[in-house]
Amino acid sequence: MKVLVVNCGSSSIKYQLYQMPEKRVISRGLVERIGEESGAIQHHYADEVRRLEGQIADHEEGMALILETLSGGEGVLASAEEIEAIGHRVVHGGEEFTGSVLITPRVIASIERFSDLAPLHNPPNLTGIRAAMHELPDVPQVACFDTAFHATIPQVAYTYALPYPLYEKFGIRRYGFHGTSHRYVARRAAQMLGLGKYKIDCITVHLGNGCSMTAVQRGRSIDTSMGLTPLEGLVMGTRTGDFDPAILFYLADRGYAVSSLNELCNKQSGLLGISGRSNDMRLLLELSREGNRRAALAIDVFCYRIKKYIGMYAAVLGRLDAVVFTGGIGENAVPVRAAACSGLDCLGIAIDQALNEQMVGRREGAISSPQSGTAVLVVPTDEEAAIADDTYQIVRQRSCPIP
Ligand code: ADP
Repeated sequence: MKVLVVNCGSSSIKYQLYQMPEKRVISRGLVERIGEESGAIQHHYADEVRRLEGQIADHEEGMALILETLSGGEGVLASAEEIEAIGHRVVHGGEEFTGSVLITPRVIASIERFSDLAPLHNPPNLTGIRAAMHELPDVPQVACFDTAFHATIPQVAYTYALPYPLYEKFGIRRYGFHGTSHRYVARRAAQMLGLGKYKIDCITVHLGNGCSMTAVQRGRSIDTSMGLTPLEGLVMGTRTGDFDPAILFYLADRGYAVSSLNELCNKQSGLLGISGRSNDMRLLLELSREGNRRAALAIDVFCYRIKKYIGMYAAVLGRLDAVVFTGGIGENAVPVRAAACSGLDCLGIAIDQALNEQMVGRREGAISSPQSGTAVLVVPTDEEAAIADDTYQIVRQRSCPIP
């Protein structure tokens, strides 16, 4: 079965075409600058890259361009009809979706309803779903929610200490994000340790531009660092993570408008805000090696927060098989992994510097020292493969029900 995985942003569509169940990537690409004066598609297949520039009016046009590129003259498909299923990344599934689902009008209405909670993400995700439905109306489509893996978080962990009616009226609670990645690396870690997927107790640490951590008990999320929105928790590229909310009142009293505070917390803070230079960990590590103090401070604050969360989640879990690093920083930044795990012998966590240095560039393996009671693993994430897998399973069951 050929499955197309789509991740639709406000002005971009990322796509990957898979041969399932082998999870072989046939081709992948990115349509960008949709709705701007000059857009582009970058299409990768075999070892080739093709780039086309031109205006792309809207997502429907972008989706049509993807299908044309996949099936046109030099395309990898004889016809777009070879695509048997489409899997969409959807950020917010509220409390309703505990797993991936076949998209129906009811599902679309719910995604629309949850746009309130994810105004920057759900609307473009929906636009992508509608564009795909327009282009391939007979192909089943599946929604995979970033929040779904966290549906198992207990009330004690998702309830904020705000007046309870705010939860009842507005759904204000912890939802968590990056769920597809946390689930993927927790399952992979279980395989690596020879444990069943519902046997592993671990802490998953996703460090990309957005960063989050999850406490996974017997394969299920029981707490996670992001909250109602992706702002809470770890220090991120440009987001604050946890901080005293009274800072906002203090700044509001000094003339900061709500919109500028939103921008400040989400776009101007984190690694960028502290360093004053960049949100890119590679550059910050370089600057820090050259003696730039603010870059060094940004990295220190970033690592300290991760370490604090490891301690918190170790307490929440009570036992621990593994700490699992993933995401661009988690998979590559050797000094970050070393600092985040330093001084954690008290929790049975110790890493081996030589192994740590080897585990870069999408290599998968253990970096813990032989004395470490807890495995420390690096697992490259693959959210697209997880979406392709969910889509394949759902569509296959639908077309040949299990007797
Ligand atoms: P996204 O959340 O956008 O998917 P990624 O998972 O690609 O982001 O992570 C991006 C982050 O990973 C950036 O901060 C980048 O600097 C960092 N990164 C990528 N490669 C390296 C590397 N070799 N060393 C340190 N950091 C890296």
